[in-house]
Amino acid sequence: MIIVLRRGATEQDVLQIEEAIKAMGLTAHISRGVERTIIGAIGDERKIDPESFEGLPIVEKVLRILSPFRLVSREFQKEDTVISVGGKTVGGKALALFAGPCSVEGHEMMVGIGGRVASAGATFLRGGAFKPRTSPYAFQGMGEEGLKCLVEAREATGLPVATELMDPRDLDLVARYADVIQIGARNMQNFRLLTEVGKLDKPVILKRGMSATVQEWLMSAEYIASEGNQKIILCERGIRTYETATRNTFDVSAIPVVKSLSHLPVIADPSHAAGKAGLVEPLAGAAIAAGADGLMIEVHQQPERALSDGPQSLKPDAFAAMVVRLRRVAEAVGRTL
Ligand code: PEP
Ligand code: MN
Repeated sequence: MIIVLRRGATEQDVLQIEEAIKAMGLTAHISRGVERTIIGAIGDERKIDPESFEGLPIVEKVLRILSPFRLVSREFQKEDTVISVGGKTVGGKALALFAGPCSVEGHEMMVGIGGRVASAGATFLRGGAFKPRTSPYAFQGMGEEGLKCLVEAREATGLPVATELMDPRDLDLVARYADVIQIGARNMQNFRLLTEVGKLDKPVILKRGMSATVQEWLMSAEYIASEGNQKIILCERGIRTYETATRNTFDVSAIPVVKSLSHLPVIADPSHAAGKAGLVEPLAGAAIAAGADGLMIEVHQQPERALSDGPQSLKPDAFAAMVVRLRRVAEAVGRTL
């Protein structure tokens, strides 16, 4: 970290900052120029809060040298992380394809959709049994019964299953059934929840919070990684902006940005970004072209009857036709789907 002092800083000011740096376990390197004095704090600057210096009247600015996240950074690991689960992978040349309904609605429904998405090329089956709904009166998910439906569909299709965990109290239950645990956008900064899934040996999909910056998102991933679980799949699902034409604004730029900053795989969820079934395909194509390592797509047999997110859900036939077209986009950027 570099601390640039204002003109007129006295020896006393320099000494005060030097002592503060030492007290934090780092060493200070002082460079006195003609106009300015610059102090370098050498050591693990992640232990220092830049604000503790920025607030001092004699400090002009503070520059970070290292990113505030470490384990999930490209500096820490150059090679892309590839996560293997249930015979499928996330990361690497082959794109991962998570597909299934927003909510698990029953045994037959899950086995039915599972079969349809599997034959269309999906590599994972998704479905929520615990749903984060804006209204307490809306369908909240089937709970454990829903998890059992997912397992039944896994047995029928061979697809590993991904489902959302909303509350640390449900962790043992959800982890018993799920192959991949999803942390939803609304819980991206539920740090206790992140800490708990960090202790698991199970892949975690970390969705981007709807108002989270890329740095905040990666800091949340760092929470999980710092507990020992490095099997993290980042998922861009759109952010909230002033635009109302779509449910969220799909931040396609976040994909290459995150891939340059982190070794973790990044998938995209165009369904929640768009909020409309008709927009899913163009956003999915853009995500693949931008370097996404996979997609998450909501599919429902009868979207008009879905208990959640019907308007953005594709019918199985439309999903299958879309996958065929997206294969050409994948091929154009050296990936397979
Ligand atoms: C979901 O995947 O159904 C979901 C609720 O997603 P998000 O957390 O991105 O809103
Ligand atoms: Mn949904």
